[in-house]
Amino acid sequence: MPKNGYLDRLCVHKDYQGQGVATSLCDRLETRFPVSHITTHASLTAKPFFESRGYRLLNEQHVERKGVFLTTEQRFPGIGNGVLQDILLAAGIHPKRKIGTFSDLEQDNLLSCIISVLGDMTEGGGRDTEKDIFGRRGGYRVRLSKNTLVSGCPQCRGQLVKETYMGGSIYYCPSCQPLVNF
Ligand SMILES: [Zn+2]
Repeated sequence: MPKNGYLDRLCVHKDYQGQGVATSLCDRLETRFPVSHITTHASLTAKPFFESRGYRLLNEQHVERKGVFLTTEQRFPGIGNGVLQDILLAAGIHPKRKIGTFSDLEQDNLLSCIISVLGDMTEGGGRDTEKDIFGRRGGYRVRLSKNTLVSGCPQCRGQLVKETYMGGSIYYCPSCQPLVNF
């Protein structure tokens, strides 16, 4: 535990739960470390345990299983909307699809699309919608952006759609990225 008192995960193997392992670990941590207070991120199942030890809830954190991808808040830290749109097009996933409705195949496919599209962007030296610190545009041609809205879908040449969604703009191809929530 670092000096700021952040307890980074306390887990007990399922076969050893209920034997006081966490209690004794916590007893030691709380007495041995000279910190004024201890904070942790506890799961809902672990919440009663920490509360029984006098911890109180600072703020509720939402872990959204059925969340949506494109919002003003990033679902994947580091993968912003501008990047994610091309990834979703490559994966054939509608930006409003619920994460909880993804099949295993779609998840695997999405992961490989994240890797390949980010790889292409890196190789191209960034996106052409952004400039580097020397004012040069990247060499990666962004497939979905306001610049390509008129030229149509790079895959099927169909009409692209721009919508406002949760405080931002989203672009997608309705034929390549059908909205299906199973
Ligand atoms: Zn298309």
